[in-house]
Amino acid sequence: MRYADVIVDISLGKLDKTYQYAIPEHLKDTAVVGAKVEVPFGGGNRKVEGFITEISDTPAFDPERTKEIATVVQGAVSLERRFITLAYWMKEHFGGTMNEALKTVLPVKHEVKDVKKRTIVVTAEPKTFEEYYKAAEKKNYRARLRLLEALREKKELDYSEILQTLNLSASTVEGICRDGIAVLQEEKKYRNPAKGMLQKNRVPLNGEQNAAVETVWKEYREGKRGTYLLFGVTGSGKTEVYLELIERVIKEGKQVIMLIPEISLTFQTVRRFYERFGERVSVLHSRLSAGERYDQYVRASKGEIDVMIGPRSVLFTPFERLGLILMDEEQEGAYKSEGTPKYHARETAEYLAELTGASLLLGSATPSLEAYTKAMNGQYRLLTLTKRAKEAVMPRVQIVDMRQELAEGNRSVFSRPLREQMQKRLLNGEQMMLFLNRRGYAGTVSCRACGEGMKCPHCEVSLTFHKDGRLLCHYCGYEIMQPKVCPACGSKYIGLFGTGTQKIEEAVLKEFPGVKVLRMDADTTKRKGGHEKIVEAFANGEAQILIGTQMIVKGHDFPKVTLVGIVAADLSLYAGDYRASERTFCLLAQAAGRAGRDKLPGDVVIQTYQPEHYSIVAAATEDYENFYRQEMAYRRLLRYPPVEHVLAILVQGEEETVAKQASVRLTTVLQAAKRPEEGFGVITGPVPAGIAKVNDLYRFMIYVKSGQYERLIEFHKIAQAEKLLTESAMKCNIQFDFNPLSGY
Ligand code: ADP
Ligand code: ZN
Ligand code: ZN
Repeated sequence: MRYADVIVDISLGKLDKTYQYAIPEHLKDTAVVGAKVEVPFGGGNRKVEGFITEISDTPAFDPERTKEIATVVQGAVSLERRFITLAYWMKEHFGGTMNEALKTVLPVKHEVKDVKKRTIVVTAEPKTFEEYYKAAEKKNYRARLRLLEALREKKELDYSEILQTLNLSASTVEGICRDGIAVLQEEKKYRNPAKGMLQKNRVPLNGEQNAAVETVWKEYREGKRGTYLLFGVTGSGKTEVYLELIERVIKEGKQVIMLIPEISLTFQTVRRFYERFGERVSVLHSRLSAGERYDQYVRASKGEIDVMIGPRSVLFTPFERLGLILMDEEQEGAYKSEGTPKYHARETAEYLAELTGASLLLGSATPSLEAYTKAMNGQYRLLTLTKRAKEAVMPRVQIVDMRQELAEGNRSVFSRPLREQMQKRLLNGEQMMLFLNRRGYAGTVSCRACGEGMKCPHCEVSLTFHKDGRLLCHYCGYEIMQPKVCPACGSKYIGLFGTGTQKIEEAVLKEFPGVKVLRMDADTTKRKGGHEKIVEAFANGEAQILIGTQMIVKGHDFPKVTLVGIVAADLSLYAGDYRASERTFCLLAQAAGRAGRDKLPGDVVIQTYQPEHYSIVAAATEDYENFYRQEMAYRRLLRYPPVEHVLAILVQGEEETVAKQASVRLTTVLQAAKRPEEGFGVITGPVPAGIAKVNDLYRFMIYVKSGQYERLIEFHKIAQAEKLLTESAMKCNIQFDFNPLSGY
């Protein structure tokens, strides 16, 4: 008899262990490690699903009483052994249950059958086609033109593939079908891989790019696998370095994972990869259907793909011959998962590279303190690109002290220097971007008589104002119409406070009547494709000013933009967590990097109330080292990452007293587990969370710090055990976050 260890599909802390089942004779070929099975569970022998993580010949307890596996689930995707190892590592390092970790490393669950292959076939005569093309050109229908160009080259195109590679919406295809230019044919078939993109002329690498490539490549050929940090200023040609390395690794018969933050997964970026590698590239993103995802997964495991591009989950692509993992913009917060396990893609990639014998290359213009510190320690190999690849010069940057503006009687959101620069652009017909570095898109409302702010009754946060007169909570969705009088004192002087993108738009229109403005924020991009539409409209010159939040600074290249105005640089400094300065520095440096990407020289105006703050000064001069030095001094002082590691424990409960009691107890238990050599101050809390209540749950925080990550893993286990022991803890929801990126 053989026995299987099974992780059942129930994410409960107290069931977070393997259960042993006997493998009946008729399942001995299919019940293998990684297979999804159905087993009788608990006293009532309820059928639950689970994964086999190990198989052995020895029963863990009385073989007579060991239950048998019921079935192997048909059509389920099974797990490869290395992903089981990876899942275990993730659970250990980032918390959560093994079941949650297994689900994370298996982004595709079930076979999706009968994927319909749809093909767009040109039916119009060449002459009609060309006339239609010209008409589209006149109207500047950019999406339609992309599709027509592709169809001109090849008369038949795979539908879902072309939506993906050309970043089109279904309505573009419907449009040309309605106009009688093409038809959509359906046939049931395994989808064909992407093809059709041509190899475009490639640029010869410059000296610095070459040096970076050769360093990695020399070690790769010698069989050395390492982690590299490619530190290159914006526009220095990092992507070209990636492309060159990918090509070489593919030539060796290996496969490549290319991580990019979802927000920069733009048409422009992805096209460069398609142009170079054609059908051997695949992209995964949140807009794909389950069927499309499944297809990519199968193609990857069959070895039909060489390069998989996408956000952090593409780490779990089932490549058999992984040679290289690339991670662009490694400092991006999006690389940390918000769901459990709260894993960071960088560390996970490092471990995966180790498991599979791949190299890892991280790229950034503003490296995370974590990566740069490791590069300084020699754990990573540092590669640098110091100048922009094209002739473009770095923009001129001016910092404006808004306190001074106010003192001299300027109450506008625009300082005099910024207004002057804007005026100049408007006269010259050049474009500009106004950037508001703050999440959230609306101002908050408060009473000018009593100072009372409008808060969500369920969460300890301010409600934000929307143009249509509603007040919204971004944490729980609560909404009300804005009251006419202050609910606290009855005064009618209640109004908007703070500056949102809508307010900036209003200010622009007031100061420059008639100017064409586009606004890109969570509000205007809610609809599908909204983001892309705004980008296109702006690239087409349909507006002279683009106003927006961080969405406008990532991954876009607008050659005609010669001015970037940062309206309130210090807004993101007030975020209240230890990474606020780092985020501010990154955002400002990226925003500044948007100006003068082409031949026209660029200007950047940074408005701030703290002109002397180091993250603002360093960003203005693109002086990363200076920022790094000062920020590290602060992290050392407060023992924050990357100097030490932090485990944040969030205790949430319906009753404030119970949540508090549970967190006090938990803190005591953790304190008792401390070793003398760890000194004082390792465990802090409990303190009410920065947002003390969300969705009617009271929140308390405990922070555990240690120089050794392994110690945090131990503390985590102790806390886990406590969670199952005491009554107050059991009434609460307790979450763990290793090296959190955002505040609570
Ligand atoms: P990054 O990824 O560092 O922001 P990119 O790779 O996007 O930089 O390069 C910025 C621009 O410079 C692109 O338009 C790219 O085609 C161009 N470029 C990159 N390397 C070279 C080179 N060696 N010679 C000429 N142009 C280059
Ligand atoms: Zn009031
Ligand atoms: Zn709320």
